[in-house]
Amino acid sequence: MRIKYTQNTLFTLTALCGALFLTEVTAENTRPFQIAHRGASAYVPEHTLAAESLAYGLGAEYIEQDVAMTSDDVPVVTHDITLDSTTDVAKLFPTRAREDGKFYVIDFTLKEVKSLHARERFNPKTGEPVLPNRFPNQIPQFRIPTFEEALALITGLNHSTGRKVGVHVEIKRPGWHLTQGKDLGAAVVLMLAKYGFSGKDDPFFIQCFEFTEVKRLREKLNYQGPLVQLMGGKKGEDGTDFVHMRTPEGLRELAKWADGIGPSITSFITGKSPESRKISSLVADAKAAGLYTHAWTARADELPKWATSYDDVIRALTEAGVAGYFTDFPGLGR
Ligand code: CA
Repeated sequence: MRIKYTQNTLFTLTALCGALFLTEVTAENTRPFQIAHRGASAYVPEHTLAAESLAYGLGAEYIEQDVAMTSDDVPVVTHDITLDSTTDVAKLFPTRAREDGKFYVIDFTLKEVKSLHARERFNPKTGEPVLPNRFPNQIPQFRIPTFEEALALITGLNHSTGRKVGVHVEIKRPGWHLTQGKDLGAAVVLMLAKYGFSGKDDPFFIQCFEFTEVKRLREKLNYQGPLVQLMGGKKGEDGTDFVHMRTPEGLRELAKWADGIGPSITSFITGKSPESRKISSLVADAKAAGLYTHAWTARADELPKWATSYDDVIRALTEAGVAGYFTDFPGLGR
């Protein structure tokens, strides 16, 4: 369809833009912010600098960083502590798997990690992509970034654009890293401070599933910045009791160490159909305890049963009162 712009349509458009602008301004206080989940992972292989740049360009307020450590103590951005599902490690280093058959980031030097090609997530047994409609693996063209490269990219873009996009950093399996002789939490805090992320007002968060690490960050590492306790299932790997933590009493206790919670979207918005959708009191209970909520993860290609569309997911999250949400699709659902 071709649109002919007449004087009238221009007037209408100007009025519309004005209205949109007003809506935007009045909605500013209640609209939850977007945290690009593993970058713009719906469009480009997760956690690559290309995915981070695209998330930035699409207007995400925060860009997520999952961090693990190499054998020579360099924090790198990767969701898994293994390299099996997102790189060609099995092809390049076939003899380097552990007894369980997996290739661990921690067993490779940075130089070796850098030699790998990062690609869209696939099933290592079959080689098939997990989500076939996402970025096709035609030629190898991406690498795993170091945490420092990702921070330098985002702060560099903030400098050149004048925007203030933040980072949401997950310390992956910190207890396990400690058993391997690596203090990942300390390395993350140090690198964040190097790039200007240290105080409560700086645009960043640290998130972790392990309450042991949340406490350790405050008590042992003297970390003062924003801290989000992630929640999943019933029990965490370190024994964290998520069932108790979700109660009003558990949330009040948690607030001594954390500033926010990170529950899954479907743990507090439930229902088998849009008609039977129910929003639990979790977000409100957290708010009463002084904790904000960052929910994970909104996906336009994987809707909850209670949602009619991606916009509907965002409406429900807004109604629930979350402060922000992780999304594979930054830019959608504004
Ligand atoms: Ca994560």
